[in-house]
Amino acid sequence: MHDACGVVGISLKESGNNVAKSIYYALYALQHRGQEAAGISVHDGKSIRTHRGMGLVSEVFDDAQIALLRGAVGIGHVRYPTTGRSCIENSQPLLIKYKDGAIAVAHNGNLVNSAQLREQLEQAGDIFYSTSDTEVIAHLFVKELLRYDLQEAMRALMRKIVGSYSLVFLWEDMVLGLRDPLGIKPLCIGETDSGHIIASESVAVDTLNGRLIRDVKPGELVAIRHGEMKSYQLYRLPNSSHCVFEYIYFARPDSIMDGRLIYDVRVNIGTKLAEEHPADADTITPIPDSGITLAVGYHQRSGIRYRECLMKNRYIGRTFIMPDQNMRETAVRLKMNTIRPNIEGHKLVLVDDSIVRGTTSRRIVNMVRKVGAEAVHVRIGSPPIMAPCYLGIDMASREELIAAYKTVAGVEAVINADSLGYVSLKGLVDAIGIREENLCMGCLTGVYPVEIPGEKCIATQTKLSEYLGSDPMKGSA
Ligand code: AMP
Repeated sequence: MHDACGVVGISLKESGNNVAKSIYYALYALQHRGQEAAGISVHDGKSIRTHRGMGLVSEVFDDAQIALLRGAVGIGHVRYPTTGRSCIENSQPLLIKYKDGAIAVAHNGNLVNSAQLREQLEQAGDIFYSTSDTEVIAHLFVKELLRYDLQEAMRALMRKIVGSYSLVFLWEDMVLGLRDPLGIKPLCIGETDSGHIIASESVAVDTLNGRLIRDVKPGELVAIRHGEMKSYQLYRLPNSSHCVFEYIYFARPDSIMDGRLIYDVRVNIGTKLAEEHPADADTITPIPDSGITLAVGYHQRSGIRYRECLMKNRYIGRTFIMPDQNMRETAVRLKMNTIRPNIEGHKLVLVDDSIVRGTTSRRIVNMVRKVGAEAVHVRIGSPPIMAPCYLGIDMASREELIAAYKTVAGVEAVINADSLGYVSLKGLVDAIGIREENLCMGCLTGVYPVEIPGEKCIATQTKLSEYLGSDPMKGSA
């Protein structure tokens, strides 16, 4: 299961009844992080009510459903289309009842040891209703809560689960936010006039007219109750490992993540691309929408005119979710149209964020050639993606990744470009402005920040289990 999702938790200061509405708007702002399913859980003072469904936030909820979710504290989730089982059981928040009450959990990330943990739990008699690793987290957390206080229970949970996790919990009248010790997936804290919000991206805070306070730190637990926020730094490692793909593609450009405005990062990447891979061209054009900000950077640096040449039909889902190659190609044609006068007789630089299988680039190069482009130079805002992601981005298997088995010249030939340039690893790292040792670049290097059977692990991180096993604050400065 690869869950690249969006999570939100909101706690109102006053004992109001309408937190569900705010969660709904926040989820709307995070819709780009997941279009497969959506859900909200609210605590009404006595128990937790949940509504979940398949589809977009606007399809899953209407006023009547929102009105039924009465309470001042709650969490929400949007789920990404995945290669795993697409079913309501796997949608979130996930509710689990236990001896002393109930807990709802929403998760963004992916555990790499969930199969083993699940097997151990099943051996011990636990029964699972879904195939998602979030249920494993929920079971383990409840078991620890029966033995320890909140902080110790979380620490014990973190020692067991390996992978990426930005989690929000609804536990009685409290919202909890937890970010894995490497900070792989984003999570931030904001404040509105009426309360606090924890969310995957700051755009959710903006939407509620709130103020971004800061990111949840790697290894930090945040607990919010009745307008009061408490923080517990449960683990502190020497390095973090923020997902580069959030900066390249996944997050919205208007989000601020780990102190950086995504828009600025992408303009920087475009600038680097122009420096590293200049082109004999008269027009820069993005593949919308993900290439737009990158193309702005390329244009600013190169001075070559910026023109939109492709228009996107915004009512088509991402081509990525299409089940087979044939359908994917049809979907690309459905999704994009050309603006012929901007293309005909021109030498283009076509900018996109990434090449995964190569389908999108090949289709679009051929499309602009058909309407008369004189030359097509493709520039990509990430280095070649050559390895799968195990930590929460639904990428593709190694066999499907074109850069895993072809050189740049080979990819250039497949996509039929006059030239192809990827931003370098160094260029990308400089553009993000976070040191390399604090980034997860597993999909670009094949070296991961956590131990994954059969894959290489960053040397400094192989001791992760040691760190978590002993003194929790060992890595603190
Ligand atoms: P492909 O056509 O397989 O080469 O995929 C590349 C296109 O998919 C690019 O235009 C990206 O913007 C987009 N893309 C890259 N990664 C993802 C992802 N994890 N989910 C959805 N779309 C993606």
